Amino acid sequence: MTKDQILNIFIETDALLEGHFQLTSGLHSRQYFQCAKALQYPRNMEALCNMIAARFKDSNVDVVISPAIGGIIVGQEVGRQLGVRTMFAERKDGSLQLRRGFEIQKNENILVCEDVTTTGGSAKEVIDIVESRGGKVVGVGTIIDRSGGKVNFPNFYATLAVDVITYQPLECPLCANGVPIDKPGSRGNK
Ligand code: ZN
Repeated sequence: MTKDQILNIFIETDALLEGHFQLTSGLHSRQYFQCAKALQYPRNMEALCNMIAARFKDSNVDVVISPAIGGIIVGQEVGRQLGVRTMFAERKDGSLQLRRGFEIQKNENILVCEDVTTTGGSAKEVIDIVESRGGKVVGVGTIIDRSGGKVNFPNFYATLAVDVITYQPLECPLCANGVPIDKPGSRGNK
């Protein structure tokens, strides 16, 4: 798919919101990607995750792992297409943890997947979990990279990289004009 085709998926499904948003980073923005809204349609999920699966099909992936919650469905579909185990890390007491009996064996090749990458903080936490168990991270795949090029994981792949203009709250023109603000980000993830 071309960049325009991918962007169209988000526009058609109202997943690209225009307004005044506070991101979890604390910055303000006119745009917000509600990735789950585009991915609620299985054909979109399948097509976008296929781009990630294709990118890593020769990486001998043993396990796909994602940070909960938004990343779970992406990891699940990428893992399904690659035909490998999928698992997720979930937040407990403030940090991501591997629970539910999920196990990573030493030297297994691990692909980290998520839906939206902003600071890369959640992906980094997952990488730390994998490495602490002796797993080898072969790459990080995401649907949307809105880090503006600030994230540089090894073998980082995004189906779509977008430049989202952000403002410090005190310098935000929308705040200056008294536009009500929306805080859609889920805690700790975005
Ligand atoms: Zn603002």
